[in-house]
Amino acid sequence: MAATLIAVIICLGAGALYWLFMSPWSQVFGRYPWRVRTDKKVVALTFDDGPNEPYTSQIADFLADKQVKATFFQVGTCIERYPDTTKRLYADGHDIGNHSVHHRFSDYLKHPVYMQEITENQEIIFRHIGKRPALFRSPWLWRQPWLIRSLRAQSLQPVSGRFCHSLEVFQPSGERIARAALKKVRPGSIIIFHDGFDSKTGDRSQTVKAVKITVNSLLQQGYKCVPISELLGVPAYQNGQ
Ligand SMILES: [Zn+2]
Repeated sequence: MAATLIAVIICLGAGALYWLFMSPWSQVFGRYPWRVRTDKKVVALTFDDGPNEPYTSQIADFLADKQVKATFFQVGTCIERYPDTTKRLYADGHDIGNHSVHHRFSDYLKHPVYMQEITENQEIIFRHIGKRPALFRSPWLWRQPWLIRSLRAQSLQPVSGRFCHSLEVFQPSGERIARAALKKVRPGSIIIFHDGFDSKTGDRSQTVKAVKITVNSLLQQGYKCVPISELLGVPAYQNGQ
């Protein structure tokens, strides 16, 4: 009985900690938008952890074909692996956001202020596209008071969102990912896909398939897909660039 009670308390505690620090909805440590309130049929599709080839380019080709603009929260080490992809995404008119240099959870524990991870990636992105982002998404949507303070110090807007499918990392079929993503879309939604995998490379072919199904369905439903800067009404880059 006591063991069951302890297990329940541990589960509730873990759930509370997850909600506080990692859920898309927690605003306890500062504003971290996961949607906007609107009755217009607009949605922001976002892609984390890239670039990761050939998948990022496959997504970019498809979005270009559909004339859809999105937002790519990119990891510094991945940008250095595929610099031409980042340049192409920027040239195509997508927003490029900061998603840390190394995408390591241990950095939150070792360097809670997280300044280095943010600043260094601002400079990596600047070297490749000539702009410093004004948008930031923390890996695993982690937020803590020190991190939010670091973002404020660097005039960065944190951006949350809803994960397209909770098991996307295991690459269930593109149809399943798309079905889950479409269920979450409302006017003003921010949806998170992963074209990459942390700072590593890996198969994202089912995500590519899911993006095609999702975008086609959204367009059919009359949705307009916009970059985050347009959805939130904020600049994508610093100094209004
Ligand atoms: Zn990530």
